[in-house]
Amino acid sequence: MPPETLTQPPPTGPETEPERVDVLIVGAGLSGIGTAHHLLQRCPGKTFAILEAREAIGGTWDLFRYPGIRSDSDMHTLGYRFRPWTAAKSIADGESILEYVRDTAREAGIDRKIHFGHRVMTASWSSEEARWTVTAEREDGSEATFSCAFLMNCSGYYRYDEGFTPEFPGIEDFGGTVIHPQHWPEEPEYEGKRVVVIGSGATAVTLVPAMARDAAHVTMLQRSPTYVISVPGEDPVAEALRKVLPSRALYPIVRWKNVLLQSLTYRLARNRPRLVRKLVRKGVMNALPTGYDVDTHFNPKYDPWDQRLCMVPDGDLFKVLKDGSAEIVTDRIERFTPGGIKLESGRELEADVVVTATGLNLLFLGGMRIDLDGEELDQSRSMAYKGMMLGDVPNLAFTIGYTNASWTLKADLVAEYLCRLLNHMDANGYDVCVPHLSDPSVKEEPILDFTSGYVLRSVAELPKQGSKEPWKLRQNYAVDLRKLRYASLEDGEMRFSRRVRKPDRVVA
Ligand SMILES: Cc1cc2nc3c(=O)[nH]c(=O)nc-3n(C[C@H](O)[C@H](O)[C@H](O)COP(=O)(O)OP(=O)(O)OC[C@H]3O[C@@H](n4cnc5c(N)ncnc54)[C@H](O)[C@@H]3O)c2cc1C
Repeated sequence: MPPETLTQPPPTGPETEPERVDVLIVGAGLSGIGTAHHLLQRCPGKTFAILEAREAIGGTWDLFRYPGIRSDSDMHTLGYRFRPWTAAKSIADGESILEYVRDTAREAGIDRKIHFGHRVMTASWSSEEARWTVTAEREDGSEATFSCAFLMNCSGYYRYDEGFTPEFPGIEDFGGTVIHPQHWPEEPEYEGKRVVVIGSGATAVTLVPAMARDAAHVTMLQRSPTYVISVPGEDPVAEALRKVLPSRALYPIVRWKNVLLQSLTYRLARNRPRLVRKLVRKGVMNALPTGYDVDTHFNPKYDPWDQRLCMVPDGDLFKVLKDGSAEIVTDRIERFTPGGIKLESGRELEADVVVTATGLNLLFLGGMRIDLDGEELDQSRSMAYKGMMLGDVPNLAFTIGYTNASWTLKADLVAEYLCRLLNHMDANGYDVCVPHLSDPSVKEEPILDFTSGYVLRSVAELPKQGSKEPWKLRQNYAVDLRKLRYASLEDGEMRFSRRVRKPDRVVA
């Protein structure tokens, strides 16, 4: 039993009165714990609880256990605004990030507010009560009911039960072991074995150097290349400042330096894609031996930031390609064979272990069903407001981080906005806040403009965004900072009201 479960509150269920809180948070990952921390600081009078499907804090950073698991954005922006990241490593390992989230929860007493093993299944809004009734399934199949005035969804963006694996012909004939990084076994045996990692994203480029240490040989098999950039594992500016400044002073400086750098490079990539392509290519060429086929393995067809760029700390991927313990093959799979993988080019890769780093299945709002006064909401037809609420859905918000910068930058802003909203409602005696689209010129657009496979597979089922603010998602921290931290809450599209009470029935 993890230590966190020892402190959880007594269970509720249909047999008891639902636990009533002001704010119910779904998910005890980086975002859920951060949101709870903001609530404690900014809305000290509010009661809250967290429902967490798993038996642990940390979400992504507890679930993924593959070799080398680490952040691919810097911890000065992946860390919370309110809690400096003090370790030297700027690109940190999964275990350290998990510790950081757990420590945040423990020190603030947030761990005592978590109901572990509670998977939220439905949330039903009653206009009459101006409250949500939330049902959660416990691990033994029993049901628990909760009631809250505001529902805050921090359930991440993908399915926990199953990673994405395409259908590979002949996979059942393969005599070796197949592992998906999302379901990493406790004791995988790959020491001295031939490993093929299928994929070209952040997970694949992390796995290859980490597995190359112990495997006989690792092949990264990709259908198409990705932009790969080497970044320093330790931030030289942070390390220099550390000698003269305490962490509290250093953290915001390095955080802002990184925000501006990310934002500038992103904008440069979007405005001058050919220049950035050239620069990335040059960086790769410098890191690899002369004659390496950079154009086949590191030169994508799409422009930089049409899909997420891959960061590798201190060029670790390039080092294993250079020393020969790993190689990249860019080809298509024809079929699995008993001894490995046959490629369309005719080449056969021999393998004892195949790792399918083929991605995630996106999932919005943790798969929960939403009912509004008895009517089920079709989430794919709703429009996101400020990238954190849904049009015509009252008292509900969600945290989805940036695709082009660290997740937590947005998560912090969403939590701050939530606290402002709650305080504003209290100050004015409102029970309900609901964004409503009143501008007929706002057009529907897909919520994500990435061309990555995992986005294209699911984008039709996700809510839409609008063509104009506040319905447009800007993926820009500086813009969101103004809009979420400082701009007026009364923007014409957000409607506030008091609960409509039905008159008491008169008994004759
Ligand atoms: C391998 C990997 C590496 C990543 N690296 C980075 C990175 O370097 N930088 C970056 O910015 N982002 C990264 N991301 C994105 C990453 O998910 C976020 O950084 C962040 O961890 C998300 O935190 P979260 O709390 O919002 O969601 P999660 O970490 O996904 O946590 C969600 C929690 O909600 C729970 N939950 C889900 N549904 C329900 C339900 N119905 N009922 C109850 N509980 C539920 C889950 O069990 C989980 O504990 C990475 C993602 C992955 C998969």
